[in-house]
Amino acid sequence: MNYLLINTMIKLKMKAFKLFFIFIFLSIPTLKSQTINTYYQGITGGVNYDTIYSKLQTFENFGNKGISSQSLKNTARWIINYYHYLGYTDIKVDTFTYSGNQLYNIVVTKTGTVYPNKYFIIDGHYDAANCPGTDDNGSGTVILMEVARLLKNINTKYSIKFIHFTAEESGLVGSHYYVNNTVIPENLDIKLLLNIDMVGGTAGMANNIIKCERDESGQSQNNPISSAYTDTLATLTQLYSSLQTQISNAYGSDYMPFEQNGEIITGYYEYNENPYNHTTGDILIHMDPLSVKELAKASTAATLYFAQAYNSSGIKIETNTTSQIEIFPNPADDIINIHSEKDIYFTLTNLKGDIVIDSFFVNKGQQTIDIKSIISGSYFYSITNENKEIETNGKLIIN
Ligand SMILES: [Zn+2]
Repeated sequence: MNYLLINTMIKLKMKAFKLFFIFIFLSIPTLKSQTINTYYQGITGGVNYDTIYSKLQTFENFGNKGISSQSLKNTARWIINYYHYLGYTDIKVDTFTYSGNQLYNIVVTKTGTVYPNKYFIIDGHYDAANCPGTDDNGSGTVILMEVARLLKNINTKYSIKFIHFTAEESGLVGSHYYVNNTVIPENLDIKLLLNIDMVGGTAGMANNIIKCERDESGQSQNNPISSAYTDTLATLTQLYSSLQTQISNAYGSDYMPFEQNGEIITGYYEYNENPYNHTTGDILIHMDPLSVKELAKASTAATLYFAQAYNSSGIKIETNTTSQIEIFPNPADDIINIHSEKDIYFTLTNLKGDIVIDSFFVNKGQQTIDIKSIISGSYFYSITNENKEIETNGKLIIN
């Protein structure tokens, strides 16, 4: 977690506190609507405590991970080598110079089978304030590695990017660099970004709650979709781990440059804030590795769900699958066509977050919606199923 934004943080926390009570009430129906998927449950059951513990120890042993340290370079090499060891082939080391230091973002891509050009991103930074940073953010780093291990041979409909950012503690430098040099110039189509930063809890406390963070700031048009995805994240967390959840707000970490670029974000952050944060006491004995294991299960489930993993043996998955949904043309003029293999609802919001088309029912098959009365511009659409769970979302241009 980056503390440069501390004033904003305090203000937003008060806002989050007020909203929290309203939110508990509103979120109850969502929590009831999903059921466990036994295929996903089998995969999340593979999360291994010994693997996580030994990786946290290795991360810690590299030492203080400030941006000018050799430790940070060694940590980067260790992360890169692990993805090679797992058998990933699309491993990009994004190298840049900041404050006279050569720094590396590590970007690993797993290609989806149905939507290869649309990405679910799971990210966490691996640099630390001038300390080992085993909680902030060895915890997130190790979770990404564990999710990547379990997902290696699983088919997903959407592509996944595992991104290990550098120089988060210097002011979100690595994630700003990535947004400016990849997301914007390549017009990267991001379905959702899940940021994991400082999730190891505090030793001696019951770390049985995790904060699920939604977008409440910056670009307001993203907020409703972020809120819905964060509800889903909370539901998945409760279904596939022993953790309870608290809805909170996103701030001060690597999701913010994405948020400012209009992307949909969500995140995890620890409920019991580690008192040793940003000190040399940010080490394994002051945190709770068992809660990291539980969050690794939740993060694996979230990745399976958001990237739409399916069983390659061809056995139908019981729940939570999306049939292929197509919306065309895009950009559109007078009409849009929606093709779907099941009944869905279509919602369109403008850039201010106002709903323009509210939960339009689309029968299985193909349906045309008249959009002549809608003024030209950029819009966000979201597709929900009968349980009000978001199946997909994106940008729609109306000429
Ligand atoms: Zn952090």
